[in-house]
Amino acid sequence: MPSNDPQVLIAGGGPVGLLCAWLLGRQGVRVRVFDNNDGPQDDPRAATTHPATLDLLSEGGLADDMARVGLVAPVFQFWDRPSGELVAEFDHAILARDTAHPFVVQCEQFKTAKLVLERLDTIPNVEVLFGHEVVDVTQRDTIVSADVRGPDGVRSHTGAWLIGADGGRSVVRKQSAIAFDGFTWPERFIVLTTPYDFEANRGYCPRSYFADPEAWCNCFKVSADGPPGLWRTVFPTDPNQPEADVTSDDAVQALMQKFFPSPEPYQVVHRNLYVTHQRVATTFRKGRALLAGDSAHVNNPIGGMGLNGGIQDGVNLCEKLARVILDGASDRLLDLYDLQRRTVAVEFVQEQSIANKKRLEAKDPAVREQNLAELRQIAADKERSRQFLLRTAMIASQRRAATIELAEATP
Ligand SMILES: Cc1cc2nc3c(=O)[nH]c(=O)nc-3n(C[C@H](O)[C@H](O)[C@H](O)COP(=O)(O)OP(=O)(O)OC[C@H]3O[C@@H](n4cnc5c(N)ncnc54)[C@H](O)[C@@H]3O)c2cc1C
Repeated sequence: MPSNDPQVLIAGGGPVGLLCAWLLGRQGVRVRVFDNNDGPQDDPRAATTHPATLDLLSEGGLADDMARVGLVAPVFQFWDRPSGELVAEFDHAILARDTAHPFVVQCEQFKTAKLVLERLDTIPNVEVLFGHEVVDVTQRDTIVSADVRGPDGVRSHTGAWLIGADGGRSVVRKQSAIAFDGFTWPERFIVLTTPYDFEANRGYCPRSYFADPEAWCNCFKVSADGPPGLWRTVFPTDPNQPEADVTSDDAVQALMQKFFPSPEPYQVVHRNLYVTHQRVATTFRKGRALLAGDSAHVNNPIGGMGLNGGIQDGVNLCEKLARVILDGASDRLLDLYDLQRRTVAVEFVQEQSIANKKRLEAKDPAVREQNLAELRQIAADKERSRQFLLRTAMIASQRRAATIELAEATP
């Protein structure tokens, strides 16, 4: 390969693709990133960044910068919406011996992407091409090619490796004929963002979950453009209602008022509707194509695990890929990446995110009471609380991944 050609192509300049570019680029790997948008997108998706992820991002000061532009949230709460009872409260301080970051940082994903982009500005061996869409992927023995549609038409780019960080509808995954097994939830999730201060007015902490047999809710604070910040509420919606009905002014006011009655109408500054899936790719590696982030796995957002899992993929993958490219290590390491990250995507993120949703939406009174009683008991027991938080903070899944080895000799 000519010495100025990229060694790694990355489809997708979302948070995972950009992070991979930074992790590889700062070690001297030549990287070219393609993203079909004009720049980072600021729709209200991920904000919650868990302790295990912050531990991975502390190098280079990224975790500290995320805390600076976001909010530090040590505590989260479970509420029973019909009775108004605060059922359980969990404080990450209990993980002080398990992590350097015994708290969550609420940092909107576009801010994380921008922090990484700023770092990329200083790395000449990384190119980020916005307005470029990967449309086709082919592999030969030692190279992988991506056909990319840019402002001047379609051009072919080659590299030794291609990372598909191109989101849930990944072209890299589809062109590599990798199945995306799982299912789609019938209900869409609506995110309504408001400046209404749920902490001052109602005593909810900045990460509050509400169980309700009629409709659950997640209620979170983000720093937005600075104090006082904004609150995001996430609700399920009726699968039979057309989008225009679900997102109309009357509908969003009715939803907010039903859940959180208030004498004043709510000021709603964003309303976004999402189709939500639970799916995992059948492999995260096909020859020279590697999947990371939403291209490899998607899940419902309750518990905030999707991007965290994607960042953890990126760190795991880039550490191994750098060894293959720079140290001549065997590419079997990339099979290990697949095995480690796919296992925890299934065993932890899928299982936990589905359980989180079922806990909040349970309708049967006996099941509801059992769920709430279990949360009360966990919160009252120090060691059970720690075990519970090790899972929610994604430390348990990182530890599990580290124990996984390939059956045959590792390089
Ligand atoms: C309401 C909601 C709340 C969420 N909250 C959280 C949370 O709190 N914590 C958490 O961890 N996760 C959360 N998530 C999940 C999180 O948003 C995703 O996991 C995250 O966006 C994945 O990042 P990514 O970089 O893999 O993919 P994306 O963010 O989807 O980025 C992919 C990029 O690739 C580009 N692209 C796509 N196709 C092509 C192509 N063919 N060529 C070039 N570019 C392409 C896209 O335009 C995009 O810029 C939430 C999701 C939703 C919907």
